[in-house]
Amino acid sequence: MSSKLRFKMVEEAFDRKAAPVALPAERPEKYFGELVFDSRKMFEYLPRTAYDELQRAITDKHPISRSLADIVADGMRRWAIDNDARHYTHWFAPLTGGTAEKHDAFIQHDGKGGVIEEFSGKLLVQQEPDASSFPNGGIRNTFEARGYSAWDISSPAFILDGTLCIPTIFISYTGESLDYKTPLLRALNAVDQAATAVARYFDPEVKHVQSFLGWEQEYFLVDESLYSARPDLVMTGRTLIGHESARNQQLEDHYFGAIPSRVEAFMLDLELQCHRLGIPVKTRHNEVAPNQFELAPIYEETNLANDHNLLVMTVMAETARRHNFRVLLHEKPFAGVNGSGKHNNWSLGTDTGDMLFSPGRTALANLRFLTFTAITMAAVHRHNGLLKGAIMSAGNAHRLGANEAPPAIISIFTGTQLGRILESLVAAPATDLSNLRAKAEYSLGMAQIPEITLDDTDRNRTSPFAFTGNRFEFRAVGSAANCASAMIVLNAAVAEQLNIFRDKVDARVAAGEELTEAIIAEVRTLIESSRPIHFDGNGYSDEWKEEAARRGLDCENCAPRMFDAYLRPESVEMFTSTGVLTEVELRARNEVKWEMYTKKVQIEARVLGDLALNHIIPVATRYRSELVDNLIKLRDLMPDKAESYGAGDLEAIEKISVHTAAVRSEVAEMVEARKKANAINSEREKAIAYHDTVVPRMEAIRRHIDKLELLVDNELWPLPKYRELLFIR
Ligand code: ADP
Ligand code: MG
Repeated sequence: MSSKLRFKMVEEAFDRKAAPVALPAERPEKYFGELVFDSRKMFEYLPRTAYDELQRAITDKHPISRSLADIVADGMRRWAIDNDARHYTHWFAPLTGGTAEKHDAFIQHDGKGGVIEEFSGKLLVQQEPDASSFPNGGIRNTFEARGYSAWDISSPAFILDGTLCIPTIFISYTGESLDYKTPLLRALNAVDQAATAVARYFDPEVKHVQSFLGWEQEYFLVDESLYSARPDLVMTGRTLIGHESARNQQLEDHYFGAIPSRVEAFMLDLELQCHRLGIPVKTRHNEVAPNQFELAPIYEETNLANDHNLLVMTVMAETARRHNFRVLLHEKPFAGVNGSGKHNNWSLGTDTGDMLFSPGRTALANLRFLTFTAITMAAVHRHNGLLKGAIMSAGNAHRLGANEAPPAIISIFTGTQLGRILESLVAAPATDLSNLRAKAEYSLGMAQIPEITLDDTDRNRTSPFAFTGNRFEFRAVGSAANCASAMIVLNAAVAEQLNIFRDKVDARVAAGEELTEAIIAEVRTLIESSRPIHFDGNGYSDEWKEEAARRGLDCENCAPRMFDAYLRPESVEMFTSTGVLTEVELRARNEVKWEMYTKKVQIEARVLGDLALNHIIPVATRYRSELVDNLIKLRDLMPDKAESYGAGDLEAIEKISVHTAAVRSEVAEMVEARKKANAINSEREKAIAYHDTVVPRMEAIRRHIDKLELLVDNELWPLPKYRELLFIR
C-alpha cells in the first residue's frame, strides 16, 4: 500500500454516507421470528399428532423416532421453500470457533431426467461433514476417522441467506464431542438435575431448572476502505502496530454520545435481521472506546441464547459489509484503547417460575436465594482457575492479564449489601436460625434473613464475575468467544457443587437434623470456605494481585498454561462426575486449545514480520535518506549554521536508524524463535514457547515501529493510522 492510496482511502471513508435501510411497514411483533421454524410454524406445517409428539420430545428432552423425523423434515422443507430457501445445511460450532456449514440443495433426481425438491428425516437428523477438516485434538487418530452432526431439537431451524440451517451437535463416531454444543447440552442437563433436587427442598413442585444466558456483545466498526488498507486487520482481526492517536478515550465522550448516522443505519439493519431470525436484541449503544459499540438481547435459555450469539456474530459481519463497514470482534483490536468483551449474564430459574438468584419475599425464599448464591460462589471458588482457562484465548490474553488490562484473576463481587447478609448468616447464633420453617410464611421472619431488596446501583465494573441483583455476570468472556466454553464450565461446576451440597444436607437429615437447619449449616460452611473468592475492591490495582496470591486464587498469567486447569484432578473429577466431558475429551480439547493458540500467534508473527520488513522499514529508510540529503545540502549551503539548523534532522536520523536497526534484529530473532518453537512436538510446549519467546519479540517490534510512526513523514506512512481507523465513520 502506498501512502497515496492511504489518503485516497481516508477520503473515500470520510465521504461515505449512511446506507439506506428498508424499514418494514409492520411492527416487530409481525416479523419477529419469521425466518424461524418455531412452534407456530410447526403447528402450521405438521400434522397435529406429529406436532404434539415433537413438542413432547423437546420438553422432555428425548430423541425422536425416524418416522417422526421424516414427517418433520417434510414440513420443514415445505416451510423453507415457501420462504424461498433452496439449500439446507447442518449448522454447528466446531472447536475452531465460529460456526460451520455445508450446504446442499434440496434437489434429488426424479427418475425421469429432471429433479424434485426433497428432504428426508435421515438428512434432517444426521449428516456426515468431512470431520478431518476440523480440529479434534487427535481423537480421530486414536478412534474413528469420521464424525457426524445430529439435530439438536431444542434449538429451532432457521433460514439464513436462502439456506435452511439446522442447529446440530458434532461428534465423532465413537461419541466424543468435537464441538461446543454437545458438552453444553450435557452441562445444562447436569445443572437441571442437580438444581432441581436442591430447589425441591424449598418447593416440591419443581420439576426442572433452566439455565439462562443474556450476552452483551461488544464490537468495533471500521470503515471498509481503511480496513482493507491494513493487512494486519484483514489477516488477524487486530492492529499489530499503530501508535495511539493524540485523542483517544480520555474525553470519555463516546459512551453517552449520539450514535453516528452511518452506524445507526447499520444497527437498525442488524436489529431487523436479528428480529426476523427470532433473536430478541433489545439494547444498542456506544461503548467506552471510539467506534466501539454494544448489542444485547433479552436473556433466553442458555443453549438457545448461545446459538443466537453465534448467529449474531455471522449476521453482524454480513450486515456491516452492506454498510461499508467491517466489524471487529477481536478482544483487543487497538492497543491503548478499551478491548471488547462479552458479558455473560447467567442465572437459574425453575419451571414453576422462580428465579433462583432473586431474593424473595419470604424467609424461606430468601434462604433458597442464599443457598444458590453460596453454592455458586463455592463453585466459582473451587474452579476459579478452570473458569479462567474457559475464557482464555490468544485474543482474550490481550484483554486480561496483559499490560493495560485487568489481571487474569477470577473473583466475585457481591456488593456491600449481599456481602453483609452472607456474613451475618455466618455470624448468627444457632438459636436465631431455628424455627425458620415455621416463620417462612411471614415476610420478615427473622433478622438474619430479612426481606432482601438489593440495591441495583451497587456495581463494580472491574470485577470479572459480579452479582448484579438477580443474576451473576461473568464479564471476563472475550468478544469473539463462543459463550459455550464459559457456560459449560460454569453450569457444570455449579452442578457439581449442588450435588455435593445435597449429599451433605441429606446426610445431616438422615442423622436426624431438621432440613432447614441442615441447609443453613451447610450454607454457612460454604460462605466461610469460599470467602477468598469474594472481593469487592478494585480489581485493576496492584495490591489485588498480591492479595489474590495470598488468598490462593489462581494467578497464572500465561494463556497456554491456563489451559492446564482443565486437566487438574479436581477438574477431571468435576467434568466426569457431572457427565459433561470425559478425560479423553478433555485431553483432546486441550490439544486443540494449544494448537489454536499457536496458530493465532504464528499468523500474527508472520504478518508482523512482513509489515515490518516490507512496509515500514522501506518507508523509514526512504525518509531517513531524504533527511540525510537535506542535511548534506544544508552543510554545503551554510557551513557555519548547519550544526544548529540541522541538529533536529541529525537527531531524527539517529532515532530512525536506531529503531529500524532494532526492528530488523527483533524480526530476525522472532523468526528464529518461531523456528525453534515449530520444531517442538508437544502442542502444549509449543504454545508455551510461542508465548514465552515469540510474543515478547512481537511486542518489541511493535514498540519500535510505533516510535517510527511518530518520526516518519505522515505523507509517506503507508498504513491508516489509529486516528483514521477510530474516528472516521
Ligand atoms: P447492563 O446494565 O449490565 O448493561 P442490562 O440490564 O442491559 O445490563 O442487561 C444485560 C443482559 O442481562 C441482558 O441480556 C439481559 O436480558 C440480561 N439479564 C437480565 N436479567 C437476567 C437474568 N435473570 N438472567 C440472565 N440474564 C439476565
Ligand atoms: Mg452488563
